Amino acid sequence: MKALLFSGGVDSAAIAWMEKPEALLFIDYGQLPAAGERRAARALAHAMSLPLEERSAPLGRFGSGSLVGGPQTSGRESEFWPYRNQMLITLAAMTYSHCDPLEILIGTVVSDSAHPDGTAKFVAAMSAVLSAQGAVSVRAPAIKMTGAELLASSTLPPELLGWTFSCHTGEWACGQCRGCNKHNELKAMSKGGK
Ligand SMILES: [Zn+2]
Repeated sequence: MKALLFSGGVDSAAIAWMEKPEALLFIDYGQLPAAGERRAARALAHAMSLPLEERSAPLGRFGSGSLVGGPQTSGRESEFWPYRNQMLITLAAMTYSHCDPLEILIGTVVSDSAHPDGTAKFVAAMSAVLSAQGAVSVRAPAIKMTGAELLASSTLPPELLGWTFSCHTGEWACGQCRGCNKHNELKAMSKGGK
C-alpha cells in the first residue's frame, strides 16, 4: 500500500501524478489554509482519478508560525511549525495501520531542507521509528529535486497545476506569503517553458 500525504499543493500534486499512489490522504490539522487545501485536494484527486481520504485532527493549539497565525520561531522560515511533519506522518501511519506493508510518501523538496523536518536525515529517522513498529516506511521521492525540477519531471498537466493551492495563511491565496510566491513562480515557469 502506497499512500501520499496530500495537501493539494504543487509538490504533492506533482508527486501524485508521478507515483499514482493507491491513496491520497488530506489532513485538516488546524492549519489556517485547510479549507483552500481541501478544495484543491478534492479537485485534483477527482481529476487524477485517485482515491482521496480526508481526516481531521484539530491541532492548531499546538502550532506556531504563519500556518496558525501564531508566533514564529526565530531563525526559521515564517511557516515553520516544529514537529509538524512527524505529526503528519504519524497520523498517516495510524490511518493506514491496517495496511501491511505500508509506504508513506511525503512531498519534501530541496528547499524544505531549510526546515529540520525537511531533510534526508529526518526522513530516514522517521522511517526507522515506524519500521521498528511494523512493515512501514517513509519515502520522499522529490527530496533531491527543486520544486521546478519536480514539476518538470512529473509532466503534471497545466490544467491540474491550475487547481493546486499553496497559500500558508488562509482559505484563499493571499498572493504574498512564501507559499503563494513559490506557487506563482512555478506557474510562470510552467507557462514560459511550454
Ligand atoms: Zn499566501
